[in-house]
Amino acid sequence: MSYPLKEISAGELARQKEIMARVAAANAALAEPPLAMVDTYGCQQNEADSEKLRGMLHEMGYVFTDSETDADLIVINTCAVREHAEMRVLGNVGALTHTKRAKPGQLIALCGCMVTQEHMAEKVKRSYPIVDLVFGTHELYRFPELLEQTLTPHKGRVFAVRQIDGERVEGLPSYRTGSVKAWLSVMYGCNNFCSYCVVPYVRGRERSRRAADVLEEARRLVDLGYKEITLLGQNVNSYGKDLEEGHDFAYLLEEINKLPGEFVVRFMTSHPKDATPRLIDTMAACEKVERHIHLPFQSGSSRVLKAMNRGYTREQYIALAERFREKIPGVAVTSDVIVGFPGETEAEFEETLSLVELLRFDMLFTFIYSPRKGTPAARVPDPFTREEKQKWFDRLLAAQSRISAETQAAHVGKDYRVLIDGVNAEGRLTARTPCNRLVQLAGGPELVGRFADVTITGSTTWSLTGEIR
Ligand code: SAH
Ligand code: SF4
Repeated sequence: MSYPLKEISAGELARQKEIMARVAAANAALAEPPLAMVDTYGCQQNEADSEKLRGMLHEMGYVFTDSETDADLIVINTCAVREHAEMRVLGNVGALTHTKRAKPGQLIALCGCMVTQEHMAEKVKRSYPIVDLVFGTHELYRFPELLEQTLTPHKGRVFAVRQIDGERVEGLPSYRTGSVKAWLSVMYGCNNFCSYCVVPYVRGRERSRRAADVLEEARRLVDLGYKEITLLGQNVNSYGKDLEEGHDFAYLLEEINKLPGEFVVRFMTSHPKDATPRLIDTMAACEKVERHIHLPFQSGSSRVLKAMNRGYTREQYIALAERFREKIPGVAVTSDVIVGFPGETEAEFEETLSLVELLRFDMLFTFIYSPRKGTPAARVPDPFTREEKQKWFDRLLAAQSRISAETQAAHVGKDYRVLIDGVNAEGRLTARTPCNRLVQLAGGPELVGRFADVTITGSTTWSLTGEIR
C-alpha cells in the first residue's frame, strides 16, 4: 500500500520550538523551576511518546518529579487496549481531585490512546472537570502550543483530539530516563484492523520513518553509550511498505548491525502474517540482533483467527514458530494470546491450550478479551460470562506457569553473555540473556551498562540466577 504521506512541515515544527522557547523564558523568570510528572500506561510506544513529552517539557524549563503532590503539571499518557487500563487511568484521575485541591494551580493533562477515542474525550470533558488539557495521539507534536494555551490565565480547558490517518513527525526532542536501554520507533500506526483491537483507530495508518532517519537516531544512541536499542512498531514487519525507498525491516536490522561498538538490538512487535524468511535469515546472520522474537498468536483456533482477521491459520503459525527455532538456535519465542474472544467455544479455547503445550513459549502474555467500542468484534454476540472465561484463563495460566518453570530450569548450567541493566530492590544486579531471560547477579552497581559472561546457576518461574565468570 502506498499513499502520499502527510508530513509535519519544518515551519510547523519551528513554530512549536518558538513556543517552547517562550514557555522556557516564562519559567526561567519564576523563583523555582516548575515541576512536571509524566505518568505512562500501556505499551512501549507510549513509553517512547512519553520520552518525547519529557523532551519537550525539558526544553520548556520543567524539572521532573515522581511526586503527584509536588508536581505543578501532571501529564498522564493513557492506553486504550483493554478496559482495565482505562479504568485504572480514570480511577487515578479521580484520586487527583484531592491532590489538586491541596495545590491550587496544579495542571492535569491527559493524552494518548484512551482520550483519542471521541467517547472518552467526551467523558473526560463531562465528568472530570479537574482535567485541564486533553490531546490525542496525533497532537503530540503540538504539546508546546496546547500547554501554552492551558497556562494562559482565563483561557479555560483545552481539548485537541483529531480523528485523522496520522502524520509523520521528525525532529521532536526526546528525554530518555535510562542510560542503558533506549526505545527507537521505526514506524507508527497500524493497518491490520484485527477485529478486537482499537489500536488502528487511535494510532492511525502505518507510517514508516525514513530509513536514514532511523539509522541516524540509532547511530546517535550508540554514540551516547546506549547498549540496547529496541526498535518499535505495532507491526515492524510491514516497515517500509508505505515508503518509496524500497527498504524493509530486515534492511534496518542489517544496517544497525553494522554500526561499530558493543551493543544489542531488539524489536517488537512482529505480526506472524508478515514475518518473512528474509527476516529470519537476517536475525540469524546479525550478531547484534538478540535471539528473541515476540510473535503474538492470539488464538490456537483457525476459526477464531479468521474471526479475529489475523491473516494466518493455526498450522501456518506453528510452522512459522518452528522455522524461527530451526534457523536461529536458542531463539526465545514469546507471544500474546486472548482468551474468550466473542463466540469462542470451550473446544476452541482448548485449541489455544494445545498450541501452548505444543510450542512451549518462553514467555506468554495472556489477556481476557475486552470489548472495545467501535471495533467489529464488540458487535459479535458473546454468550460466555466473564466467570467462565476466567476459568479458561486460569487453566491457561497454570499451563504456562508450569512450562515457564520447566523452560527456565533448562537454562541452568548454560553460559551467556548478558547486558547488566540495573539493580533491583534487593540490591542484586539485573541482566537479560540474548533470549531475553531475566538474570539476577551479585556485583556492584558500577557494572550496570556493561556486558558480562555469566553461568546460570539457578532458576525460578520468572527469573534466573547467575554468576559472572
Ligand atoms: N501490535 C501488537 C500489539 C497490540 S496490543 C500486535 O499486533 O501484536 C498488545 C496485545 O494486547 C495484543 O497482542 C493482544 O493480545 C492484546 N489485545 C489487543 N486488543 C485486545 C482486546 N480487545 N482484549 C484483550 N486483549 C487485547
Ligand atoms: Fe492491534 Fe492487530 Fe494492529 Fe496489533 S496488528 S495493533 S493487534 S490491529
